Amino acid sequence: MSQDVAVITGSSGGIGRAIAKVLSEKSSGELRLGLHYKGNAEAAKALHSEIPNSFLIQADLSTSVGRGALLEACLKEGNPYILVNNAGIDKPHEPALNIREDSLDLILGVNFKTPALLMRDFAKEMIKSGSGVIVNVSSILAKKALTGSAVYRASKAALEALTKQLAFEWGPKGVRVNAVSPGFIETAMTETIGPETRNLIRQEIALGQFGAAEAVALAVAHLIENDYLNGAVLSVDGGMRL
Ligand code: NAD
Repeated sequence: MSQDVAVITGSSGGIGRAIAKVLSEKSSGELRLGLHYKGNAEAAKALHSEIPNSFLIQADLSTSVGRGALLEACLKEGNPYILVNNAGIDKPHEPALNIREDSLDLILGVNFKTPALLMRDFAKEMIKSGSGVIVNVSSILAKKALTGSAVYRASKAALEALTKQLAFEWGPKGVRVNAVSPGFIETAMTETIGPETRNLIRQEIALGQFGAAEAVALAVAHLIENDYLNGAVLSVDGGMRL
């Protein structure tokens, strides 16, 4: 029987890396982990060397060639059982009056269109084999206004809506679809936030600080492990929208 494969997109980034490590630890190396990356080959190779039973896939997922390569690599390695759509971008930040058409194409492309098409293609394989689990990485900003983040917000809100729709359509076929909604997490994405803005944001978080990528990774693992979770959006934000 071929081995179950879990693919994590954007695994060379902060949250992706943590997800790969937690899934590997929780499965005691049993799951074969597909570590996708786009750039930052050094970080990807370092992660690969730390994770037993893993393989690397380099692809720009905003192209159909890149998405096709990801699925093909995964099928070569085993049975696509888990897909974590983690790759994402939050820039450019633009006040709503200045939103550019190419920013819309870029952010909606990476954060919404890419996971939508990956889910369609991976789910076909999961349904063939009778089961699968998908987790999408959304954001607290799907439900919260922040000047400059209109397109990012829309992309993540669309991803959450799609998560629920697909959970409804594919649950009966054995495929569960959930999402995790991180608040402000210490990664490359948030390191450019200046000290003043950082303080203002911290004041809005009940726990008073940005979160660690591992907290998001543990939530992703929970969404995978708990077999009665379907269409759920789990917040990991230290209590930010209470
Ligand atoms: P990160 O910048 O460290 O990682 C993002 C990853 O996405 C990188 O590995 C990058 O290579 C990949 N990526 C970007 N464009 C891609 C493309 N076209 N094709 C393939 N891969 C691409 O940031 P992170 O904080 O680890 O973000 C991971 C996810 O978490 C994103 O979806 C982000 O929106 C979400 N998120 C992050 C935060 C936060 O505070 N850091 C909060 C909420 C949600």
